[in-house]
Amino acid sequence: MIEYIGLNRFQTALRTSLFAGVDLLALAACERSAEVSEDASPEGAASHEVKAVHWSYAGEDGPENWGGLSEDYAACATGTAQSPIDLTQPGLASDTALSVDYASGPLEIFNNGHTVQINSAPGSTMNNGEKDYVLLQLHFHTPSEHTVDQLRFPLEAHFVHRADDGGLGVIGVLFEEGAHNDALSPVLANMPQDVSELHKIDGVDFNPSDLLPADLAVYRYSGSLTTPPCSEGVAWHVAANVLPASSDQLNALRAVLGENARPVQPINQREITAPN
Ligand SMILES: [Zn+2]
Repeated sequence: MIEYIGLNRFQTALRTSLFAGVDLLALAACERSAEVSEDASPEGAASHEVKAVHWSYAGEDGPENWGGLSEDYAACATGTAQSPIDLTQPGLASDTALSVDYASGPLEIFNNGHTVQINSAPGSTMNNGEKDYVLLQLHFHTPSEHTVDQLRFPLEAHFVHRADDGGLGVIGVLFEEGAHNDALSPVLANMPQDVSELHKIDGVDFNPSDLLPADLAVYRYSGSLTTPPCSEGVAWHVAANVLPASSDQLNALRAVLGENARPVQPINQREITAPN
């Protein structure tokens, strides 16, 4: 049973951007660029900031050219602390643990044309030993964006959080082909095949922590959004423990998402912290 919340696509995108800042705004960019002129009120003031240029994962507006598509995307080309990266030979071990406390709520899901996104229920939090964050949303990439010892995985989930000071923290979870993953079932059963409005699925309770490994040992490094505008200063935490998903589940996600992974970026002077 699907209830369409009374938001059109623009409002959905804007709502997302207001809650999540520039990163999520980018994820919804293509829809907004098409609709911003015809629906500039009542949030019209905000729409000036969110002038978005179309980007994709292939061809002339693909990752190699993101930096030139818009002044706002310059960091995609000139940034020196970009994501994703290959997680190899971490330096120091982290001495702080990651803790999460996510809340359950009715599944809120939509397809923004770049990924399938699930909005979090209120009261979902994460602490990385430095800051408290609130979970905003999670979404998926096929194949994975991060690699481990240059090995790419078929799926990566990103849990996007924001701290009170506006700083972003993301947890990445890698999936390998294996056993059926029950936690993915509600996502796959309700995943919009095409660009969609926000669907609130009454009767389907979802807790994002079901898609986290029980042992949250993580690689840590400082990186960026993996989509335009590629803003830096994002605290990355990529789980060392990989979760399974069946080939049918992976195929179903790929069929909707296509290839939506940015290539790995140079590590430069950054230090990767080992899973603790
Ligand atoms: Zn992502």
